[in-house]
This record gives sequence, C-alpha cells and structure tokens, in this order.
Amino acid sequence: SLADADPLLDGLNPQQRTAVLSRSAALLIVAGAGSGKTAVLTRRVARLIRDRELWPSQILAITFTNKAAAEMRERVELLVGREAAQGMWISTFHSACVRILRREAEQFGFGAAFTIYDSADSRALIKRLVKEMQADTLGFTVSAVAGKISRLKNELVDAEGYSRQLNPNDPTEVMFLELFRRYTAELRRANAFDFDDLIAQTVYLFRAFPKVAALYQRRFRHILIDEYQDTNHAQYALIRELTRPVEPVHVPVDTRVELDATGGIPAASLTVVGDSDQSIYAFRGADIRNIVEFERDFTGAEVVLLEQNYRSTQTILDAANAVIANNFDRIAKNLFTAVGAGDKIVGFTGYTQHDEAQFVADEIQKLHEAGTPYSQIAVFYRTNAQTRALEEIFIRSGLPYRVLGGTKFYERAEIKDLMAYLIAVANPADGLAMRRILNTPKRGIGPATETALANHADELGGTMHDALRDAAALGLGPKVTAAILDLAGLLDELADGVTTMLVPDVLTTIIERTNYLELLRGSRDPQDEARAENVEELVAVTRDFQKNNPEGRLVDFLTEVALVAAADDLDDSSGTVSLMTLHTAKGLEYDAVFITGVEENLLPHQMSAAEPGGPAEERRLFYVGITRARKVLHLSLAMTRSTFGDTTVASPSRYLQEIPTELIDWRDSPGMGARSSTRSLGSGRDGFRYSASLPPAGKPKTEWANRVTASVRDNGDLTLAVGDRIRHVDFGDGTVSAVTGVGPKSIAEVQFETAGRKRLLIKIAPLEKL
Ligand code: ATP
Ligand code: MG
Repeated sequence: SLADADPLLDGLNPQQRTAVLSRSAALLIVAGAGSGKTAVLTRRVARLIRDRELWPSQILAITFTNKAAAEMRERVELLVGREAAQGMWISTFHSACVRILRREAEQFGFGAAFTIYDSADSRALIKRLVKEMQADTLGFTVSAVAGKISRLKNELVDAEGYSRQLNPNDPTEVMFLELFRRYTAELRRANAFDFDDLIAQTVYLFRAFPKVAALYQRRFRHILIDEYQDTNHAQYALIRELTRPVEPVHVPVDTRVELDATGGIPAASLTVVGDSDQSIYAFRGADIRNIVEFERDFTGAEVVLLEQNYRSTQTILDAANAVIANNFDRIAKNLFTAVGAGDKIVGFTGYTQHDEAQFVADEIQKLHEAGTPYSQIAVFYRTNAQTRALEEIFIRSGLPYRVLGGTKFYERAEIKDLMAYLIAVANPADGLAMRRILNTPKRGIGPATETALANHADELGGTMHDALRDAAALGLGPKVTAAILDLAGLLDELADGVTTMLVPDVLTTIIERTNYLELLRGSRDPQDEARAENVEELVAVTRDFQKNNPEGRLVDFLTEVALVAAADDLDDSSGTVSLMTLHTAKGLEYDAVFITGVEENLLPHQMSAAEPGGPAEERRLFYVGITRARKVLHLSLAMTRSTFGDTTVASPSRYLQEIPTELIDWRDSPGMGARSSTRSLGSGRDGFRYSASLPPAGKPKTEWANRVTASVRDNGDLTLAVGDRIRHVDFGDGTVSAVTGVGPKSIAEVQFETAGRKRLLIKIAPLEKL
C-alpha cells in the first residue's frame, strides 16, 4: 500500500500511523511509557513540513527539556532535510517565552536585555527581603517564601491577585503579600524575570495586548506539546492564548494566512501527547486535569491510544504495570511488548549505602565488560544527597560518570562571578549582578562603599552603573575612587560593543582586565587550580556558542545559559555513566538502569506522606524510573543509611512488594571483584535478603566483622530505657544513659564500663538486655 512506501511511516503500527497522519485540529495522544509518543510527535512535525501543509516557521513544538528539543530537531532534520526544517521553533516553554519576551518586553516596560534569575538568584533576593522585613520573626523561611511565590505565579496569581484573596486579619498573609510585592518590584527594577515569570508574563502580555497576541496566533499554525501531563496552569493558559482565533480587527495587515468567512484567522491546530501515569511535577503545579479535560477544552478533539511498548522487555513492563496498578483513580492501561521476557530484574540489599554503591559499581563494570557502553547505563535516585556515596565509589573504581542536574557548572562561584560581569554589561539595571562584581576580584570596595553607591544610584534615579561613573562625587578615598572608575570604564567600554563584539571577546576582555585568571593561577589555594580550569571551560563554552550561532551576541548567550535546564549538561554523555534524580530521568531511555535507595521514607519520600496525592505521585515517579530501562533493571537499597552524620535503619519500600516476586532475582553475592567481595547475610524478617561487603584489603578485620555481625542481628521491637543494663558483643557491659528516636530508629546512648560512651541503633546493634 501507499503507507508502506512512505518512509515517514516506516515501521509504525496502525495507531501510530493514525496519529502521524491525523488532520484533526485538536489531537490528543495518550499512552504509557515507551509507546512512541515522542517518536510520533516528531514524525508528525516532519510530515507537516514534508507535505507542505505548513511552513516550518508556522510550527511550534514544545518539549520538556532543551536536550529533548535538540534531539527532536535533529530527528526532524534527518527525516525532511536540514534546509527544509529551518525556521521551526522546537523548544521548551521557557525558551519559547524568552524569545517572545525579548521581542516584546518593551511593550510593557521591560528592556529587551532583561536578565533571567535562576532559583539561586531569586533566593538571594528573597533572603535580603526577609531580613529587611524581619519576616523571620513570623516564621518565614527563604524556601517557603520562594516556593509560595513560585506556586502562585504558576497559578497566574500575582501580588495584586494575592491581595484580593488573602485574609487581612492574618499577619503572616499580610507579611507574605508585602514580601511578594517587594520581590516583584525588585525584579522590575533590575529588569529581570524569574523562571516562573517567563511563562506568566508572556500570558499577561498576550492578554493585555491582543495585537501582540495576534502576531503569534497567526504565526504558529500548529502547536505540538510533548509531556502534556506535566503542564501547569500558566503553561496551559499560554496554550489557550496561542490557540485562540484572531478576530478580524486584530488581523495583522501583512498576513499571509488564509482568512475565515468573517475575515478573521481560525485557531491554530494543537497536538498534545502525554501519560497521566507519568505526571511527576504536581509539586510544581502540574495538573493532570489538563490531560483529562483536553477533550472538553478543545472541542472536536480526536484521541489516539498507543498500547505497544517498544522500549522495554516484558519483565520490566510487568513490573511497571504491577506497580502503577496500585494507584487507583487512573484509567487502566496495559502495555505489551514484542521484545520478549528478557532478563530478570536484579535486586540487592546492602548493609550500608556504601555497600549499595559498591554493588552498583561492580554491576556496571560487569555490564561494561559484557559490551554495554557506559553511555547506555544510568543510575537514578530520589534525592541529590544520595550521589555522594555513589560518586565516592565511582571515583575509586575509576568509573567514568557525570551527574546530570547536580551542583552544576553554572552554580560554581567563579562561573557566577564571570557571568555576573557579562550580565552587568548586558543589563546595567541588574543590581544583583552589579553587587557581585563590585569587589570581585578584590579592589577595596567594602560594604560601606557598596551602600554608598547603592544610595547614590537611588539619588541619581539611575542604575548602579550610573553611580559608579559618578563615583568622584562621593568623596571616597582616591584609591577606591580610582578602582571604581576603572570598573565603570571597563563596563562602559564593553557596553558600547554589546551588539557588535563576539561573546568570547567580551569574556576574555573581562578576564584580562580584571586579572581574574592570573589571580587564580598565582594562588596557593589548591582549589584555585580547578577554578582556573573552570574559567577556561567557560571561555570554551562561549567559543562553542559563537561557532554554533555566528550571529549570536551577548544577550543571546546569556539567554542560552539561563535556560540550561536540569537535565541539560553542556558536555555530552558519550562514554560516561549518567547519574540523575528520578525527576530528571523523564523521557530518557537506557539499556541498563539502576534505581537506588528503594526504601521507605526515600521512595516514597518522607515529605510526600503529608501532601494530598503525594504517595500516588511518588509511585508514578518509581514507574517513570522503571520504564526508562530497555534491557536490564536493578533495584537496590541499603539497610542503614547515614545522612548528615545520623544513621537510620531503612526498610524496603512498599513498592518492592508490589512487584511480583518471580520477576526479581535477589542477589546474594555480587561482584567478587578485586575491590571488594560481598556475602549473603541471609533473609531478614521482612523476607528480603541482606548482604554486606567483606573488608577490603587492609581494613581492620574486627571493626569490619562487627558491622557484618550487626547486620544479621535484628532485635525486633526491643525497647530500652534509661538505666537499663545491656551487654554488647564488642563493647561489653554498660548502662543506657539516654534514648532518642522512635520505633526502628531508636538510638540508645550507652555508657560502657570499658569502651566509653557509644550511640547504638537499638534495632540492629549486637546487644542484649541484661
Ligand atoms: P515516554 O513515555 O517514556 O516519554 P514515549 O511514549 O515518548 O516514552 P518514545 O521515546 O517515543 O516513547 O519511544 C520509545 C522507544 O521506542 C524509542 O527508542 C523509539 O525509537 C522506539 N519506537 C517507537 N515506536 C516504534 C516503532 N513503531 N517501531 C520500533 N521502535 C519504535
Ligand atoms: Mg516521550
């Protein structure tokens, strides 16, 4: 048939073909993980271009990360050719909004060179405001304020909106309103948007200026959105604005679009794909209702269901299906695959998180030796704190790895310093950036001078930069004045060239004129060597940027950097194992996946228990993790876990019991490699098998043996009270002097007769009550 001959439909199943070919103005593709949603969306874009239904520039495709956007663009270009694909907008919501705001910000009083505040910038500002307002006395914390502002913005509630809904008799609400107002005013003064603003302000812009909205409503004739289940209200509102028909009065004069009978422009087409089982951003305002109510919101919508999974083995799918089936309140769907059963899931319980990490490292080494490239292996965890144990072992084992979305390049002090210079050049109104560079590197400008300059800026009614230029008027010492004028001169010089100079030139001028690199190289601090390398890396980043964007200038570079999302790292993943949180893993796939820390209080996370819908969302997160795996899945946990010096007894996650036991092969003795060996400790009372590492060479045997003995011990519900006498296998007899914690986490402080004072976890310590 004709379809068989069409390369765009090659290999697609009938439902996928329907979705690629559909001519509906509103199309919803709902399907489980790995069923080809993203693949179908990509081919649909290609088909629209190839069949000349639209110009590439009339297409707006939205992905969840910049990396996903780059991949989609690459695939479309492969399908229709690079030339043919030019002019498409394939980007995240944030990037699309930045592009719109850069063009239109002047309409509502912002400069086109606005700064984008990342969450650290926002927090720095909020911290100052909380302090100024003494809001901490009312119990406000920076993260609580930041979180609430973010949630409200995602709901499209601004400070004025909040003032109408608050209880005026509640002092905390009144205080919050004041913080929100000041925060908003400070951003405006700095000519800055925070991350949530990017979306919200674009919506406000469209609502306030229908003529501006009409430009984009006319331009984008087809909008396609991946991961629709994780859109929040503001993003949803943006889609609604973009898919409104244009009334005749707002039709732009030069329009090339076909008009409808009334002389207006019909609404743009919309295709969305999603999986409500993978909604994992409710805490950031994502709303599953957007997907559930799609058919109501976009009348005449066509719905296509995909059921065949092309990613994973049947074993992995069975586990995923079994876990997610425990979420009630969902539409049952059952994924199947033609791939076959494949390997069993590998389970492992370590005594500590280090044992767990060692297991992961050993298994990775084995996979690698058997032919799986490192780039096809990923390790997931629920919280960032879990990376430390993993990284330690990985470094020791010489495993090449990278952490996605951890403490990132751009969060390092030296990079922030230089970025602040670039921002100050592009947007002199940005007080935060100005304050950062004033005395970096040290030029004798102390806090008093900084305050004097800030006040002077206010008097002048100008920016900090204006105040610097006018420093002579402040009557400061000659040396400081000269230093300030020198800085002002540098900024002036660069500001003149901001639209002409190449970005690497701007950066190297700053580095040379401030002696930044020289100072690091000449320092005795060993850390400074790494810092110098980072600075060089930033120069390399600007060179890459310039190569890829020959027309790009400073503001374009700053935009790109500001939008590097959590899942996006600059270095590519070739040849390294990827470590990331489960949230970051969305949409990705790997041959081999490790999910670590599958324990109560971690997965599900402790915090989720209090949130309505929290446990169900945690289960979806686990489901997302499982369904990333193509061939092999490993689930691991540790019996004890120490964080911030506190050791707690962990118990297996409830989700493990939801997986049919025959699917998991609990390992007794992983990795008999040179680095360590592990032995079985038998089954615990909970039915899980426990193992622990044997001492690596050189480690005192007795100390290690204690740990192993301890790990087979289970004192059950033994309770101890102050004054009780106990006998410990190694420490001998002692008296309990204090008991803290509850249940399995109770810790006894014991004064031993010879061994001194010790803190012991009652549940597992090798002790008996006398
Ligand atoms: P997720 O829900 O995790 O985002 P998804 O539904 O978007 O998954 P894709 O990532 O598009 O799924 O597809 C999963 C894998 O299956 C990809 O490797 C894709 O190339 C492959 N795939 C999709 N459809 C087919 C098909 N008809 N034949 C062969 N492979 C396919
Ligand atoms: Mg996808």
